[in-house]
Amino acid sequence: MDFEHLPHPAPVPSGTRQQALENPGFGQLFTDHMVVIDYDEDKGGWHKASLGPREAISLDPAAAVLHYAQEIFEGMKAYKQGDDSLALFRPEQNARRFNESARRMAMPELPEELFLESIRQLVAKDRDWVPSDPDGSLYLRPFMFASEAFLGVRPARQYKYILIASPVGPYFKGGAKPVKIWVSRNYTRAAPGGTGAAKTGGNYAASLVPQAEGIDQGCDQVVFLDAVEKKWIEELGGMNLFFVFADGTVITPPLTGTILPGITRDSLIQLLREEGLQVREEPYSIDQWRADATEGRLLETMACGTAAVVTPVGTVLGPDGEFTIGTGGTGQMTHKIREKLVGIQKGAIEDIHGWTVKLD
Ligand SMILES: *Cc1c(COP(=O)(O)O)cnc(C)c1O
Repeated sequence: MDFEHLPHPAPVPSGTRQQALENPGFGQLFTDHMVVIDYDEDKGGWHKASLGPREAISLDPAAAVLHYAQEIFEGMKAYKQGDDSLALFRPEQNARRFNESARRMAMPELPEELFLESIRQLVAKDRDWVPSDPDGSLYLRPFMFASEAFLGVRPARQYKYILIASPVGPYFKGGAKPVKIWVSRNYTRAAPGGTGAAKTGGNYAASLVPQAEGIDQGCDQVVFLDAVEKKWIEELGGMNLFFVFADGTVITPPLTGTILPGITRDSLIQLLREEGLQVREEPYSIDQWRADATEGRLLETMACGTAAVVTPVGTVLGPDGEFTIGTGGTGQMTHKIREKLVGIQKGAIEDIHGWTVKLD
């Protein structure tokens, strides 16, 4: 499919852009352009693609997404390499997962090649927006929603795929500082048979109240337990978890349909195994977590995802009070694996897995 290139009447002047890039924050600053691809069942599916100015879109008030939340998204980053070129990290995994989410939400799949081409086109166009700061990157947000105007309950016949980009610094204000986690008892994120494995906005909407509860308790993030027994640790609102033990084993909760299959998670499983650790995907309970941490069997807990990379969990505030992981600081393995992952993403460490995709 050809992308129609629409001219931008007034891109941000380079001086203003440069200044904004000095302290981009996370998800607050946006580039000049966006990609839009339209889907219409009556026009043969995906039929019109454009790369143009990032601007407000017009939407009929009856658009299905506004009523029944048919929406999915992805999150990925373009990283500046040592030689100033750009690279993506396992983007084909994002393309594949986007379609897995689409299937769960009864939405049309976007051909993986079209997804990847949209990324290449936007990054090439807004290349000057990629921060040079070693902690910075260009966060890419592809998403799709039901745009058809109707109030009946059935899968829509019209959709929009849009890709926007946001220059970002570290996700957490303290960088890779240990975070404090709130164990949510009153709320769950995903139930068996639900949409927990799909990257869909509704999962996030449901996590906002427990997240606010956690913030009220002085925590940074919420850990959700399984919806059936309220016992098994699942994940944070947007990050997967790893538990590192003194005996050289690591546990991460299994992908049973209620957890988002993170690409960082998958990468860490491989990297930790290459460090000689024995990684097991198996259920791990909140009570065991507290016992293992307080009795010294558990050394580290790390949270991971594209946005926050690898972040140490320092303290946990649960229904039976607070407990500390290790010394409450950044564990050795957490530090090592974060350096390794970031090194591969930025081209400073040899990419033996073929994970990075060079853009220019
Ligand atoms: C996106 C996401 C993750 C992390 O996935 P990555 O592919 O590693 O970025 C974890 N949990 C949830 C709920 C997510 O939405």
